[in-house]
Amino acid sequence: MSSSMSPHKHKKFFDVVVVGGGLVGACVAAGLKQHRLTASLNVALIDAAQLQGPSSSSLPSKVSLPPEPPLRVSTVTPASRALLTAVGAWDILLNLQNDNTSSVAPFHAMKVWDANNASINYTSQDAFQAGAIPTPDEPMAHVVENDALQQAMLQVATNRGVHALWPRKLTSLTLPKHDVPRSNEPAQLTLLDESTGKSETISTSLVVAADGQRSRTRQLAKLRYEGGPYRDQVGAVFTLALDEPIDTAYQKFLPTGPLALLPVRAALPSGAPRANVVWSTTAAHAAELCSLDGDALAAATNGALEGGPAPRAIEAVGVARSFPLSMSMAPRMTAPRLVLAGDAARAVHPLAGQGANLGFADARAAVETIASCARSGLDLGDGASWQRYGDLRLAEGMAWSASLELIRRAYASEALSGARFMGVSVMDQVSPVKSLLVRVASGVSGAYGGALDDDEWGTAPMSRK
Ligand SMILES: Cc1cc2nc3c(=O)[nH]c(=O)nc-3n(C[C@H](O)[C@H](O)[C@H](O)COP(=O)(O)OP(=O)(O)OC[C@H]3O[C@@H](n4cnc5c(N)ncnc54)[C@H](O)[C@@H]3O)c2cc1C
Repeated sequence: MSSSMSPHKHKKFFDVVVVGGGLVGACVAAGLKQHRLTASLNVALIDAAQLQGPSSSSLPSKVSLPPEPPLRVSTVTPASRALLTAVGAWDILLNLQNDNTSSVAPFHAMKVWDANNASINYTSQDAFQAGAIPTPDEPMAHVVENDALQQAMLQVATNRGVHALWPRKLTSLTLPKHDVPRSNEPAQLTLLDESTGKSETISTSLVVAADGQRSRTRQLAKLRYEGGPYRDQVGAVFTLALDEPIDTAYQKFLPTGPLALLPVRAALPSGAPRANVVWSTTAAHAAELCSLDGDALAAATNGALEGGPAPRAIEAVGVARSFPLSMSMAPRMTAPRLVLAGDAARAVHPLAGQGANLGFADARAAVETIASCARSGLDLGDGASWQRYGDLRLAEGMAWSASLELIRRAYASEALSGARFMGVSVMDQVSPVKSLLVRVASGVSGAYGGALDDDEWGTAPMSRK
């Protein structure tokens, strides 16, 4: 409990309220319960949607996977995996399996190339040499199914006593006028249960806003969000059946945008290999791709990847869907008693698979900031502590946004193909440059990329896989 606030005056008081139970909010809530200094805090997790959990039906200890891997998957960097392990979600995730098929697909190499065959290749060996993974035979990253990961984190959070408030939509927010300690008033949130039409008001020392790109919390706090959806980039996402399993992530830069092929688990029960495709392209082309049947979509993908190292697709399975892609950023990540995390703070192009990973680093930073306030006996909304959080997370988000946009534009421009070829060759062949890139992409170089403190993280012993 924050030291300077009197809970008795405020009905339904929580030490921390996390708004949004997506990948990032669920990670903050689970993380708070796994960190030694924050495990006893009274935490509420709110989501407008009917998430799975105690307020609906209890999460089963083993969740059955759907027969086909779902469309929404995320690459998880070594830094994020270490956090998810400490949070207790990774082990659960590995157990969400049917027929020995896990919802986690490791990969040991990454191949990136363009139409002029400028290519860059990374392997686990490079990641090991860069200090991103402990042994060269470990995967350099994993592809996880978003739904399964979210469920694993919600399971940790709710099993460890997070108050699950869903479905509840945040409809109004009152923040103190001044930062803590100048003001010691709590933040107040009004939540609406749309199924019953009932509203309730709760108060807290700290609001963590993890309610996504269109964050209502951010809007109510009057924090700006600059940028927006790309006019010329939409992601067409679908699943391909392949003739052989893959252990490599592939990405080809086409003039219209990057086409990525990620390993995912095989289909159940036949075990036929699958890949998840994110094809970033123009809106018109994405619409055309999403209208094709399975054979035509596989043929279009094979045509686009022709001549490169990627395996051939047999057919596309299930539906193809398009997702808007954005580059947006909140130039200020904090308000009195409120902090932004995840897509509520920034959205980046998926070409490097970093959006959720940046959000996980926010989650770690938020939990460690709350822990540091608790350790020092400070109010959990302490303005100076959150200013530091905001500065560090903004700097990392801006660096990623700018780099990804530079890469995207360099690959979209034919005029830059010579310079690009040279740049890519340098990246591929000069070890220190490659090492630096691998460290950055693995998430181990940021302010919150270092090893987690085992004495503080993990209230219950966890095996580190
Ligand atoms: C095609 C595509 C591919 C991607 N691939 C990768 C990848 O490989 N690796 C990677 O790291 N990232 C990837 N990303 C990015 C990643 O998916 C996002 O960064 C991540 O899911 C954001 O999570 P979040 O929890 O911040 O937000 P969200 O997932 O948007 O969650 C927000 C939550 O808030 C709730 N909510 C919203 N409004 C309210 C309200 N008023 N009251 C209460 N609750 C509310 C919502 O119901 C939701 O549950 C990809 C993105 C796209 C589009």
